[in-house]
Amino acid sequence: MIEFKDVSKVYPNGTVGLNNINLTIEPGEFVVIVGLSGAGKSTMLRSINRLHDISKGEIIINGKSITKAKGKDLLRIRRDIGMIFQNFNLVKRSTVLRNVLSGRVGYHSTLRTILGLFPKKDVELSLNALKRVNIMDKAYTRADQLSGGQQQRVSIARALAQEAKIILADEPVASLDPLTTRQVMDDLQRINQELGITTIVNLHFIDLAREYATRIIGVRAGEVVFDGPTAEATDDV
Ligand code: ADP
Ligand code: ADP
Repeated sequence: MIEFKDVSKVYPNGTVGLNNINLTIEPGEFVVIVGLSGAGKSTMLRSINRLHDISKGEIIINGKSITKAKGKDLLRIRRDIGMIFQNFNLVKRSTVLRNVLSGRVGYHSTLRTILGLFPKKDVELSLNALKRVNIMDKAYTRADQLSGGQQQRVSIARALAQEAKIILADEPVASLDPLTTRQVMDDLQRINQELGITTIVNLHFIDLAREYATRIIGVRAGEVVFDGPTAEATDDV
């Protein structure tokens, strides 16, 4: 469960990113956050795994405050959260398998991961993750040899190898064509349904949100202007 309690985020230059957000997301939900560019979608997602600190309030993840967590506790909470970005964030010159294995980093000592000494179990988990998104045949291909859609599927596999319980996807299809967009959204949906991974996706198209979300959160100027089942969302949420 993810809980926002009176969460505000003001950037150092004074811009208000989020203004007093209160909401709860239950395990297994497929939530799409919609809103125009600059509405606060990304600020909201980045607050959940504390890619940045919030200015006020608290965020609770599965009963633990990520806002107050330090050191190992923070790492342990973060290990449950996989992040997917618009630009994939892969190591371009590494193989697909190496990129997916990097999802295992949080489970081992730094030295072990610097040396690239991942146990067999990690390789198995990574190959299974690639199988789930149908690109196991690309395991030994360099990441930058893949199409955008394939690269995004690799980043989904990385979150699966991480054994994430929550996936945060920040505009995951913004740089993809319509067909590839559907393939990536289908993968996210399938994983949500098969594995029960709580999924929160930022999108700026309400039509796409309607197709995939079970719940839509509409944001505007840092505030929640709609929060409810997809069927109740109007075009101007
Ligand atoms: P969205 O993801 O919906 O496009 P963002 O969360 O990125 O919106 O941005 C919300 C608001 O915060 C916008 O006004 C944006 O300009 C501002 N903002 C985002 N990141 C920063 C930053 N690092 N410094 C200052 N302002 C920022
Ligand atoms: P997807 O179904 O993921 O969109 P495409 O149909 O675009 O994939 O790609 C088909 C094939 O072309 C893939 O095997 C991919 O590796 C290759 N390919 C696509 N884009 C590039 C690129 N920019 N550089 C090298 N190979 C590419």
